[in-house]
Formats: sequence, C-alpha cells, structure tokens
Amino acid sequence: MNDLTIIKNSVIGRGYPELNPKEVEIDYEKTRNKWLLYYCRNHSGFYIRVNSLLRDAPPRMKEGGIAHELSHVVAEKTRGKRTVAKSYQLYHTFKIFRDLEERNIDLDVTLRGFGLGLAELFEYAKRDNIPYANNLGLSSEEIRALLRLRK
Ligand SMILES: [Zn+2]
Repeated sequence: MNDLTIIKNSVIGRGYPELNPKEVEIDYEKTRNKWLLYYCRNHSGFYIRVNSLLRDAPPRMKEGGIAHELSHVVAEKTRGKRTVAKSYQLYHTFKIFRDLEERNIDLDVTLRGFGLGLAELFEYAKRDNIPYANNLGLSSEEIRALLRLRK
C-alpha cells in the first residue's frame, strides 16, 4: 500500500461518505502531461493517477488534489450514463464547460473541507513550475477568499 491509498481512504472517511474506498484505486504515475492528478474508470471502478512530481508534496496538499478527483467521481456517479457521455463530450469540446465544471468541483472540495489543501497544492505547483491547468477552475486566491467567508 502506498501513502496515497492511506491518504485517499482518510479523505473518503472524512469528506466523501457516499463513496466506498474500495471503488477508487490510486497510484503515482510518471505522467508527461499537464495534469497534477486525474481520474479514469477501470474494470472495478475508478482510478486516480497522481503525477510523481508530487511524491514529496506535504500530505495536506495531496489531500486537496485527491479530494478534487473524488468530487469528479461523485459528480460522475450522480449523473446517468447518457448525461456522463454528454458531459464528457462537452468537457472536451468547450472551454467554458470545462471551466464551469472545474469551478463546481473546486467549490465542492472547499465545502467538504479540503479547500486549504487544494489552494496550497495550486501554489506549490506554481512555485515549483510543475505544469498544471491553472486556467481552469477556481484559483488559489478564490478558494482562500471562500475559506475566509466560512469563518
Ligand atoms: Zn478536475
């Protein structure tokens, strides 16, 4: 078991009661693409891949990134098959759809209590020049503003 499995199970336990830890696998990947993390479906459920550049990132940042992917999994599970297919199509066709989808996901992450880790992850990636899709979703400043409102 890698550290990611332990962190993922802990995040599910604290913030994603509708998910079963066994339906989401996770591991590092030496990805050459721009994603810090991403998820896909596999035979038994879902699979989260974490860019191995994040191996040394602090656990709270990993929690934020993993929570983001878990929110995608929850969103996908709450949609019907046809709606999932349609939303995949829209996601890959229109930037406005991608941006709205990612903003909703980041808001969900923040409401579930993992916003600080996500904001820190974005800042960590920016500081260390780790490439990621920083033109999509909420910025770390927006997440921090939401967190201030909640106090
Ligand atoms: Zn996303």
